[in-house]
Amino acid sequence: MTDQITMLGNYDSIIVNFSTGIDSTGALYWVLRHFPREKIYLVYCDTGLEYDINDRLLYQVAHQLKIKPVLLRHEKGFLGLLEHRGMWPDTANRWCTAYLKRDVTEKWIRANRHLLGETCLFITGERRDESPRRAKLPELTVHRTTLKTEKKGRFTCHWLRPVLDYEKGKMFEWGKALGLAAHPCYEFVERCSCIACIYMPDRFAVENMKRYPERFKALLQAEMKYGHTWKQRTSLTELWNTVCEDNPADLVV
Ligand code: SF4
Repeated sequence: MTDQITMLGNYDSIIVNFSTGIDSTGALYWVLRHFPREKIYLVYCDTGLEYDINDRLLYQVAHQLKIKPVLLRHEKGFLGLLEHRGMWPDTANRWCTAYLKRDVTEKWIRANRHLLGETCLFITGERRDESPRRAKLPELTVHRTTLKTEKKGRFTCHWLRPVLDYEKGKMFEWGKALGLAAHPCYEFVERCSCIACIYMPDRFAVENMKRYPERFKALLQAEMKYGHTWKQRTSLTELWNTVCEDNPADLVV
């Protein structure tokens, strides 16, 4: 399928959905092997729950590879939405991805069709062996921003996942081939995600807590305020009590 895309490949623009993690770095390598860099937009969504270094990494990578960086942020961010909803996201209602990543990206695409041309390829870096859900993802689909009629102009966007069938080791290899250092979080967690991702094993949340306690204070207070915990069976507060001496109730945000 990816060969088909390359053959069809008369895209006016390529958007690489970049998380700063290794899989989207691998996807970026694939894109750079197949498309001219002047067509590439490196799009990163700051959920408000990211590592502080990520903004800088976006601009560094874009500068080093001579591609255009785009940093997107929802006006409320994770904490604002947590306050608004009074509950954490979960698998049944993963509002974090929907609002803080998908929707801000689609909004940017719709507002920037004049830059993106009539045909756009949207790239993400999921891999099948990461989870049963990702194992079932299609390699190529039509993206939701595609215009169905020509009333507002012509715009077709295809969504390609070029690294679905690759293994993680290959992603690190490709990142190295681009001359990029892996995100520093791989020293202590397996996946580069939000610092308190609802899917991360508890032990990785603890690793992040130890290193970035300041970032967790508002999250702990939100748990206490809304009486709704990070995971159904685990609260950040109980994890905090295993590693930090400050009483979460006394924390000043
Ligand atoms: S990394 Fe986790 S917490 Fe962050 S947006 Fe994705 S699912 Fe939500």
